[in-house]
Amino acid sequence: MKIFYSEVHRKHYPPFELFDGGKRMPYFENPERMDWILDALKKTDWADFVEPADFGLNPILEVHDKDYITFLASAWTEWLDSDPEVAAAPEKNAFLPATFALRRTPRVPSTLLGKAGYYIMDLSACIVEATYEAALASAYCALSAADSISSSSENHSYPAFALCRPPGHHAGKDYAAGYCFINNASVAANWLSSKGKVAILDIDYHAGNGTQDIFFERNDILTISIHGDPEYEYPHYIGFADETGAGIGVGFHHNFPLPAGTDEMQYLLILNKAARLIKEFAPKYLVISAGMDIFDGDPLGKFKITQNGFTEIGKRIAALGIPTVVVMEGGYANEALGTNTVNLLENFK
Ligand SMILES: [Zn+2]
Repeated sequence: MKIFYSEVHRKHYPPFELFDGGKRMPYFENPERMDWILDALKKTDWADFVEPADFGLNPILEVHDKDYITFLASAWTEWLDSDPEVAAAPEKNAFLPATFALRRTPRVPSTLLGKAGYYIMDLSACIVEATYEAALASAYCALSAADSISSSSENHSYPAFALCRPPGHHAGKDYAAGYCFINNASVAANWLSSKGKVAILDIDYHAGNGTQDIFFERNDILTISIHGDPEYEYPHYIGFADETGAGIGVGFHHNFPLPAGTDEMQYLLILNKAARLIKEFAPKYLVISAGMDIFDGDPLGKFKITQNGFTEIGKRIAALGIPTVVVMEGGYANEALGTNTVNLLENFK
């Protein structure tokens, strides 16, 4: 299986994040996550590592607002220029706003901090020097994986894995959130949609709010997210069952919010429902937003999926028989990440 991966992500390592209650914490979404996955993949006999290609900005600007991407590209430099204390010790700092926009009016502020509060949803999307570069490389991994499955022969399409970091599914059209800056799965799905219908199945523990935001008014891309109920879980404001799309997109988005403590049996029943929806839609391509934070023991999740559960989930998705790109999202139980990822992926090889 082709695994698209870039080392550039290592340079995106904010020194802290601010957690619920204002707690300053080490950054959960850290480069070591990738090391655990790389180690496990290298022990298999089917992982074929490939550097992503450069796709330029166009495929990204087809799903993200241009001014938001411009903000991401220059925020860190502008921040350094504006504050001598930060410039004296950049490695100890991360750029975050302290004021957030109430989006009742479409006005985008002109100042750096004003823009930050407009374009950033929470205090985990910390920007450091290489954030933009890493986010681009991550999106290119997803695009390269999409290109790889779509250029396979008519009779046989090989699946591909985009080992993306930073992750993407919380990033909306014009905002960063939940460790995500560019929505990798959405960029890949949109790119594939010029060749046929696409379904995105998001199995990360957290609702795929960004993906929902991006495709909410489209009927050529089916989006499904299975996640912790936003009644008790991040992202809190989106991901409810009655959000099913808008305009021509009505009926083409499905949220399956689940209670804390959801175990494998309960989870697999819902996964079967999602699989039926995908079959009915009959997409040419499938994109999986693969978060491993549904694992029992993940510090940011409350589900009870075992390591074998990932095998079973992978088996059921692979049984759909659709050319598939698996895109890495969250997962913070670092020591279990390698096994969980391999267990999911080996069904597709
Ligand atoms: Zn997550």
